[in-house]
Amino acid sequence: RQSWASDSSDSVISSGSDSDGSLYKVILLGEHGVGKTSLARIFGGVEDCADAEEAVSVGNTYDRSIIVDGEEASLVVFDIWEQDDSQWLQNHCMKMGDAYIIVYSVTDKVSFEKASELRIQLRRARQTEDIPIILVGNKSDLVRSREVSVDEGRACAVVFDCKFIETSAALHHNVKDLFEGIVRQIRLRKDSKED
Ligand code: GDP
Repeated sequence: RQSWASDSSDSVISSGSDSDGSLYKVILLGEHGVGKTSLARIFGGVEDCADAEEAVSVGNTYDRSIIVDGEEASLVVFDIWEQDDSQWLQNHCMKMGDAYIIVYSVTDKVSFEKASELRIQLRRARQTEDIPIILVGNKSDLVRSREVSVDEGRACAVVFDCKFIETSAALHHNVKDLFEGIVRQIRLRKDSKED
């Protein structure tokens, strides 16, 4: 079986951080079924025919430039967390990102608990670094089957010292804000390092 690492995406994954900081690697984490692929595909413009040419999609990575606050930023979004059961891949994910999006589904309490575990795992892997993380409660459109309240999500983000947003990939609600938010978080840290 061909593994993801042996195809052309290898060069993207193993390339170091761009020294001028213009290319950011963003990793999606979260339990199966929470909506990681849906969010990544919206980012990549795959769902949106008019935009399709803008995105370069290699397997489960989506490469796209977006304008945030009048300045261009290039993001490579990796939807590879569940690609493979290998511990190696998951360890690699924890090490390689410039920023992380931890997704749970507001209709699934277990996925919410898993999100906390992922946050802890990430903190352990990147102890000394202040990495941008956004906690995402997806499927906010499924009002009747909600198991996690907005307040619970927000409180969790406070405890874990990260940003929080609720999204609906189904309605494309807040998805743009999510990716713009990640760029702002990356820039904030970059700017404070330069001071
Ligand atoms: P992944 O396993 O985390 O990559 O999740 P997917 O993106 O494959 O989504 C799992 C299922 O949830 C699919 O059937 C999606 O259509 C559905 N889904 C994803 N996001 C939403 C959402 O915001 N609202 C609703 N109602 N369904 C969603």
